[in-house]
Amino acid sequence: MSEDQEVIVVGAGPTGLLTALGLAQQGISVTVVERAPAVQDTPRAIVYHWSTLDGLARLGLLEKASAAGFLKQDYAYRVRATGETIAYGLAALDGKVARPYNLHLGQGALAAVILDDLRGFDNVRVLWSHEVTGIEQDAVGIDVAVRGPDGISTLRSHWLVGADGAGSTVRRLLGLDFEGMTWPERFVATNVRFPDDRVGWAQSTFYLDDVYGAIIAKIDESGDHGMWRYTYMEDAALPADSVDQRMPAFLAAVFGPEVAESIDVVAASPYRMHQRAANAFRSGRALLAGDAAHATNPTGGLGLTMGLFDSYALIEGLGAVSRGRASDEILTEYARQRRTVFVDKASPRAASNKKLLFHSSDPVKRETDLEVFRRMARDREFAAEALYFTKTLESPSLLTV
Ligand SMILES: Cc1cc2nc3c(=O)[nH]c(=O)nc-3n(C[C@H](O)[C@H](O)[C@H](O)COP(=O)(O)OP(=O)(O)OC[C@H]3O[C@@H](n4cnc5c(N)ncnc54)[C@H](O)[C@@H]3O)c2cc1C
Repeated sequence: MSEDQEVIVVGAGPTGLLTALGLAQQGISVTVVERAPAVQDTPRAIVYHWSTLDGLARLGLLEKASAAGFLKQDYAYRVRATGETIAYGLAALDGKVARPYNLHLGQGALAAVILDDLRGFDNVRVLWSHEVTGIEQDAVGIDVAVRGPDGISTLRSHWLVGADGAGSTVRRLLGLDFEGMTWPERFVATNVRFPDDRVGWAQSTFYLDDVYGAIIAKIDESGDHGMWRYTYMEDAALPADSVDQRMPAFLAAVFGPEVAESIDVVAASPYRMHQRAANAFRSGRALLAGDAAHATNPTGGLGLTMGLFDSYALIEGLGAVSRGRASDEILTEYARQRRTVFVDKASPRAASNKKLLFHSSDPVKRETDLEVFRRMARDREFAAEALYFTKTLESPSLLTV
C-alpha cells in the first residue's frame, strides 16, 4: 500500500490541529484536510479549564498560549432578580494542583498558536480549502476523497481522525447517528469592548436570569481596555439574520442604557445548541474527536474541554498504535471511554449549568442551586472538590488498560 501519510485528520479546528501536532511530535506523518481557507475565528471557546493545561504544557504550547491570552482565577455568579453576587475562585486549588488557574484565549488564537508550532514539522501538511467528500476503508487502510481548488483527489492513510465539528461529514459518511437533543433556543456570542472595562466584575461572570441570562468573560487584556465575550440566549424561532436588531435591548437591560450605548460590538455569531453524541466514536480505521463526536451547549465551557481531552487520549493511543507499540484495541477503548465521559458527565453537567443560568424562574430551586456556589465562596475545601470536576472528564492513560 502506498500512503502519503499515516494519519489523515479532517478539520483544522483546535481538536484536529492539536491531534496533528501531538502525532507529528512522535514522528508520525499527518495530513490535515480543512474545508476553510484559514483558521476559523468566529466567537466561540474562550475559557480553558485548569485541568486541560497540563496537556498543553506536555505539547509545549502552554507558554505561548498563556502569552497570547492570560491566566486567571476569579469567578462570580450575579443574580439579576436579587442583586446578589457570589464570588469564588480557583485559589481554592492553590497547592493542590500544578496549575490552579484557567486560560482565557479566543479559540481562533489558540488554533493559530498550534498552527505556528506545526510549521516546524516537515512530516505534517495542512491542505486548506480542501473538503472531505468520501471515505472507503479496507482491512489495511482508508481512502479519503477530497475536493480542493484543483478538483477531486484521493488520499490514502492507515488511520483517519474526524475532527470536523458538530456538522461532521466524516460522521455522516461513516453512517453514524448523532443521538440527543437540540435546544429550542440559540446562543448569540459577541466580542465587545466596554467603556468601563467592567471594573469590579469577575473575569468570568455567570449572570443569572430567565430572560437576560448571560456568560460574560474577559478575552484579552491588551490596549486601554480589553475585549470581553458576552454570550446571551434568545428563542431560536426568531430570525437569525436580525439578531443585531434585538441585541441593543439585551445590552441595555444587563449593563444599563448608558453603558450599552458606548459598547463596541466587534463581532457576533448566533449558534444552535445541542446535547448530542455520535452512537460510536470509532468505525474501523476512523475515529471521531471533538465536536464531531459530541456537541454540548457551552455553559460552563465543557465543549472544547472534552475536545482537548479527546485529543490528548488520541495522541497517546493512535501514536502508540501507529508506532506498533500497542494493539488497535486501545482505540476501541478510546471510543468507549470518551463517549461514556461525555454522556454520563459532561453533557448532564452542561445541561444543568444552562438550566441554572437561563431558566431560573423558580426561586425555590434557584436558591437550592445557588447554595452550592455560596458554600464554594466560604469553604475552600468544598470549592476545591467542586472545581476538580473538570479533571474527571480526562481519560486515564490508554496504555494502562
Ligand atoms: C458561543 C460558544 C462558546 C464556547 N465557549 C467554550 C469555552 O469557553 N470553552 C470550551 O471548552 N468550549 C467552548 N465552546 C465549544 C467549542 O467552541 C467547541 O467545542 C470547539 O469549537 C470544538 O472544536 P473542534 O476542533 O472539535 O471543531 P471545530 O472548531 O468546529 O472545527 C472543525 C473544523 O472542521 C472543518 N470541516 C468541517 N467539515 C469539513 C469537511 N468535510 N472537510 C474538511 N474540513 C471540514 C471546519 O471548517 C472547521 O474548521 C463554545 C462554543 C460556542 C458556540
